[in-house]
Formats: sequence, C-alpha cells, structure tokens
Amino acid sequence: MTSNSRVVVLGAGLAGVRLARRLGELGVPALLVGDEEHRPYNRVLLAEVLAGRYSPDVIALPAPAGLVRAKVTGIDRDRRVLACADGSEIAYGTLVLATGSNPVLPPLRGLFTPDHVLPEGVHAFRTMDDCLGLSKAVRPGVRAVVIGGGLLGVSAARALAVRGAQVVLAQQAERLMERQLDPNASRLVLRHLKDLGVEVHTECRVRDVRCLGGAVRSVEMADGYALDADLVVLACGVSPRAGLAKAAGIAVHKGILVDDRLCTSDPHIRAVGDCAQHDGTVYGLAAPALEQADALAASLAGDPDSRYTGTRALTRLTLAGNSAFDLAAFGETEPRPGDDVVQLADATRGTYRKVVVRDDRLVGGVLVGELGTVGALARAWEGAEPLPSDGGPLLHLLTNDGGT
Ligand SMILES: Cc1cc2nc3c(=O)[nH]c(=O)nc-3n(C[C@H](O)[C@H](O)[C@H](O)COP(=O)(O)OP(=O)(O)OC[C@H]3O[C@@H](n4cnc5c(N)ncnc54)[C@H](O)[C@@H]3O)c2cc1C
Repeated sequence: MTSNSRVVVLGAGLAGVRLARRLGELGVPALLVGDEEHRPYNRVLLAEVLAGRYSPDVIALPAPAGLVRAKVTGIDRDRRVLACADGSEIAYGTLVLATGSNPVLPPLRGLFTPDHVLPEGVHAFRTMDDCLGLSKAVRPGVRAVVIGGGLLGVSAARALAVRGAQVVLAQQAERLMERQLDPNASRLVLRHLKDLGVEVHTECRVRDVRCLGGAVRSVEMADGYALDADLVVLACGVSPRAGLAKAAGIAVHKGILVDDRLCTSDPHIRAVGDCAQHDGTVYGLAAPALEQADALAASLAGDPDSRYTGTRALTRLTLAGNSAFDLAAFGETEPRPGDDVVQLADATRGTYRKVVVRDDRLVGGVLVGELGTVGALARAWEGAEPLPSDGGPLLHLLTNDGGT
C-alpha cells in the first residue's frame, strides 16, 4: 500500500483500537499510532485495577498488528504527514484522530509548578500511568482527598477506600453524580460511599492545594478549613484532546467538529471518540466512541451509506467487591411538569428504580442496586417507540423481576 492511500489512526484508546481492528477485519489494514507505554487497555476498567480487583493484563485490549508507539506533535496537512516527538514522520492518505480527552485540572495555584508537573502525591485519573502511580502510593491509613464527585471521583474514592485509605471526597455541587442521577439515586451512592468509610463533603469548593518540599500536604477549602492529605486525586472532568487539530487549522469548537460521515473540515481527516464533537455533542463515554469507530470502519471500507447519527448513551457504573453496587442512568432522570413518573424504592435493600415518561415515550430512567430490567428499559428508550397506552407494560418493564 502506498503511503498516500494509507489509513493512519492516531490514538490507541478504545475508539482507535476498535477502528483499527474492524478495518483489519474488513481488509483495510491501518497503522495505529499511540503514545502510551502500555499495551492498549480498556480505560473504563481502570478503577477496578486501582481497587486491586484486576491486574493491568486483565483489562488489556486485543491490539491490532500495526501498532506504532510515538507521540505525534504536529499535522502537516499539505504534505499529509504527521510529525513525531522523536523527529520521525508518518505519512497518511486518510488520518483518523482518536486522541481522546485530557483531564481538566482545577485552577488551584498550588498545582502549577514552574516545570508543569503535578506536585508529588497529586494525581489525575485518566491513564494506566495515573492508575499505577496511585496504586503505588495508596496504603492502609493513607489520607486521600478526591476532588470531584462525578462518575470518575466516585469510582476513585471507592477504589481507594477498598484499598484501606482514609478518603475524603470534596464535591462542589450539592450532590454526587448530579449530571446523571436524580437526588434519590445520588443519596444511595452517598450511602454506599459512607458505608465504605468515605467522608463526603458536598457544596464544598476546594481553594488550594498546599505543598511542602514539592509534595502535597493539605487541601484547603473555600471556608479556610484545611484537610491533611498524603494523596490528592483530581477528578474534575475531561476536555476533548483537540489541540493538534486546532493547531493544524481544522475546525474545532468544544471538540473536533465532525459530520455524519465523521469527516472533519479537512476531507482527508476524520475524528472519532472523546475528541470529536458530533451534532453539538461531545459524549466522553465509551459506547458512542465504539459506535463511531464501527460506523467509520464501514465507511472507510467503502460503504457509501455508512453514517453515524448519534448515540443514546446510557451511563453505567459497577462498583464491584464485597459490597457490590450497580447503577445505570439514561436520558432525563428529572421529570418536567406534565411528565409521568413510575418509581419503586426499597430503603432496606438500597434499591431504587425510576422511569420518566413524556407523552407516550420513555425519556429517561435511573436504576440503583437492581439492574435486572436495564436491558429492556434501554431498548425501549433507544428505540423511542411509543409505549402501549395502558401503562401496564411500562410497570412490567420496571418490575419484570416481580417488583421485589
Ligand atoms: C477511570 C475512568 C472510568 C471511566 N468509566 C467510564 C464508564 O463507566 N462508562 C463510560 O461510558 N465511559 C467511562 N469512561 C470514559 C471512557 O473511558 C472514554 O469515553 C473512552 O476511553 C473514549 O475513548 P477514546 O478512544 O476516544 O479515547 P481514549 O481512550 O482516551 O484514547 C485516546 C488515546 O490517544 C492517545 N493520544 C492522544 N494524543 C496523542 C498524540 N498526540 N500522539 C499519540 N497518541 C495520542 C492517548 O494517549 C490515548 O491513549 C471512563 C474514563 C476513565 C478515565
């Protein structure tokens, strides 16, 4: 294959690996380029590695044959060449950007050292390196502060608590996982963390991180209160890794703008996964990244009709271990005036199920502790088909385990 017809996939994460593998199956070999030292892995399962439940090998992805380890530092669109940090160049015919996300660092003075490295003891939670660094530092009794109470912060706090750390979680919003969950489900997550010994502070803004000799010593709250800390985890969200595209003059808004064929503003460059923005949405979730990779593989293999038209993404969190805890949320979990709500709660067992129906359509739901019905509900939601008018089957969807 000449370099001019070669497909190069930049980023060996979930989307890039899936795309390269699918292309291989469809007879379009691609060169996969990634900068992480480890074998490609399933990022979604990093918290399980941190919790000590899985070894890094268990979450490795089947890597395609053509994997090159390199950090790409620039795209020369005129010559269709990638520049690498080691001075080498990689020519492409079609380039796919699958560069993922960067962790968002909160604007705290103490984080910004002159040499742009995080102080000792402060960790992001995005990569296998972050995970192994944290894993090495955590010991029973270590004082850990997790900043951020979204999906990432909750997973990290739980994993550290399972490893015996004394964990404090500082959440700026008034409740945990407020983007995905309604207040009742948030309360169950809070209870689960508290049962594990995690101290949770909501409506709590962190003002600074204090260091001594380059290592973190405490975290200071907006009200002046200081928490002693040996370890700090930054779980303050992610932003699309779109810097290379932007520097090359490709259209970027929040993420790299793509159309239904996952084409960027340059016809020779496509984008998939966390770095891409499709129809106004940057998903930041695994399922859309994989769906985009599948649609693009079909398109690059010659299917003129392959389109990506969006994903109705379900958020699922499994906190496994002695006290397993499962939750799933999709769509709108808070009703608008006029919506119908069906809700079942069992405080003793810590289960909670709720669906929101607008007109005759399922628009959202949340399940905690009891996920037996999640597949049927997700299908009803994804299909967006009208629900039967008597409401009976809807209750059945929620209770097909007998409603216990
Ligand atoms: C701890 C954790 C838990 C998560 N849990 C869930 C969950 O429960 N459910 C869910 O749906 N999602 C979850 N996510 C999000 C999910 O992991 C992402 O949506 C998914 O990984 C996106 O895949 P991607 O391929 O677009 O990006 P990534 O998996 O981030 O891969 C991008 C790759 O590109 C590489 N790269 C970037 N720039 C360059 C460059 N210039 N040169 C070379 N290589 C480069 C990066 O190093 C990286 O390896 C979680 C994320 C984390 C961190």
